[in-house]
Amino acid sequence: MAVSLDLTQTRPAGRTITARPPVVASAGAKPSLLGMSRRELAEAVLSIGVPDKQVRMRVSQLWHWIYVRGFTDFDRMTNVSKELRQRLDDAFTLARPELVLEQISVDGTRKWLMRFPSRGAGKPVEIETVYIPEEGRGTLCISSQVGCTLTCSFCHTGTQKLVRNLTSEEIIAQIMVARDRLGDFPEADTPQGAIVPGEGRLISNVVMMGMGEPLYNFEEVKKALLIASDGEGLSLSKRRITLSTSGVVPMIEKAGSEIGCMLAISLHAVRDELRNELVPINKKYPLKELLDACRAYPGLSNAKRITFEYVMLKGVNDSLADAKELVKLLKGIPAKINLIPFNPWPGSPYDCSDWEQIEIFADYVNRAGYASPIRTPRGRDIFAACGQLKSESERLKRSEREKLEAAQVTAGEQPVEPSPAAPAGS
Ligand code: SF4
Repeated sequence: MAVSLDLTQTRPAGRTITARPPVVASAGAKPSLLGMSRRELAEAVLSIGVPDKQVRMRVSQLWHWIYVRGFTDFDRMTNVSKELRQRLDDAFTLARPELVLEQISVDGTRKWLMRFPSRGAGKPVEIETVYIPEEGRGTLCISSQVGCTLTCSFCHTGTQKLVRNLTSEEIIAQIMVARDRLGDFPEADTPQGAIVPGEGRLISNVVMMGMGEPLYNFEEVKKALLIASDGEGLSLSKRRITLSTSGVVPMIEKAGSEIGCMLAISLHAVRDELRNELVPINKKYPLKELLDACRAYPGLSNAKRITFEYVMLKGVNDSLADAKELVKLLKGIPAKINLIPFNPWPGSPYDCSDWEQIEIFADYVNRAGYASPIRTPRGRDIFAACGQLKSESERLKRSEREKLEAAQVTAGEQPVEPSPAAPAGS
């Protein structure tokens, strides 16, 4: 589920840092240990000749080095024998994906464009991850798919067709790269001047609200989120992990019982007719079925509420009548409502509601007893709506190609196509 993070339509000039950091490491042909379940990790060490009776201990050691310390180099794993470190290195990798682009907003929001190698016959793919630091917490918004099969009309990712599902390794890699870049591992330093929470973990919350519909990639998402919440590794509480869905009704109960994280619903409309247009999966699973599935979400209570995401679209879904209907619709569901000022993207068919109207809407739902914060506009200067960094990368590639072609024409050469795998803008 992709959400917009912005309110303003203008970008302040000269305050954005757009950096292309060096590639941390590039995943090669060796299988990665990242994103493997404990059982898979056990099979992996068995496959390189670790005796049965040592497997549990070795898995525990590796888990610690990989997820607590963030090591990407087997040679630093000092409680593993030199000979075994060599065998691990010969057979496996812990390399991070290639980092294509990093953007840092003046408000501390960070966006990363990461490139993963092809799986099978396909090309390398690029996905986005966003970090939002706030007072007392740092939220990482991660992607589950490259593109999306759904075509929610307010969502920029919805304009990009699905390329493929991300693997558990690629989902977890987004958290690892973010921790690398923020210096969020015990022996790492946070970059000078970085805006991060004053105390506690730099990444305290993970939301699966980036590119894609996570419940259409259930097994890999489940594996990744169980790794993220493993108490001896990344150790994120399931209360601080939120999976956001557009409303894949048959999978909602399964997500609750098998993953057990918090749930968010990309709602955005209170009538089927309008929701069919904004979130077309509603034609398959209309509001009544969706809300019934929410009522049955395992573990639902006042301490474990469902978040309903509601993007504010001018003259479309933002009337007081809509607010009243919303309150009626959610009656009896322990819920929070997140009001999201729409962040228009080039060609988007909607405008953001006027601030005054957003406040009228928010006042009504607040008075009805729903904690409904208006999500503070973030990352206004860095294309913060999901899917836009990928477009920015493509724009950079185009501009570089044009420059290259112009240079070649000047030199009397024939223009050549750049390699699809070349870093954007290089
Ligand atoms: S499910 Fe809808 S909102 Fe989520 S990424 Fe796909 S198109 Fe966007």
